[in-house]
Parts: sequence; C-alpha cells; structure tokens
Amino acid sequence: MHIRDAAREIHATAVEKGFWNPGEITFGERLMLVVTEASEAMQAYKKKQDDEIPEELADIVIRVLDMAEGYGYDIEAAIAAKMQKNKARPYKHNGRL
Ligand SMILES: [Mg+2]
Repeated sequence: MHIRDAAREIHATAVEKGFWNPGEITFGERLMLVVTEASEAMQAYKKKQDDEIPEELADIVIRVLDMAEGYGYDIEAAIAAKMQKNKARPYKHNGRL
C-alpha cells in the first residue's frame, strides 16, 4: 500500500467515525493528539510494555496521515521530498543533535 492510499483510507475512517465534523477540532488540537500518542508510546516504554509500543507508534503515524489528508496535503510527496533533502544533509547536519 502506498502512503497516500493509507492516508486516504485513514482519513475516510476518521470522517466516518465522526472525527472531522466542521468546527469541532482545530489544527493545533489535532497536532496535540499526535503528541498524546507520542506520550502514550513513551509511557509504554517507561513501563517496559514493549508489546504496546508498536501500536502507539502506529497511532502517531495514523494521526499524522489523517491530518495530512484532512487538510489536503500530499504527504507521500512531502515524505519523498524530505527524504531526498535529508540524504543531502551532512553527517549530523554539522551539529550535535
Ligand atoms: Mg494510542
């Protein structure tokens, strides 16, 4: 499955389940839902619940793909472009982290 196809399917499910009703959730609130999933992944890591980590990582990706599609961005093209940009960068981007 291509990334854009996944994004379309994820967004269609989110719409169907009522998570894209106009005016209910702002762009910023949706971004914070990504952070919430990252927090859940961190909690699973801290509790050594390794079996739960993949699902939380999947939740992060799902939230991002839903947002991208919902706001009309071609995330597959954006990822491909950014991967090329990253490949061209120097080791550790000439910095520390
Ligand atoms: Mg989660």
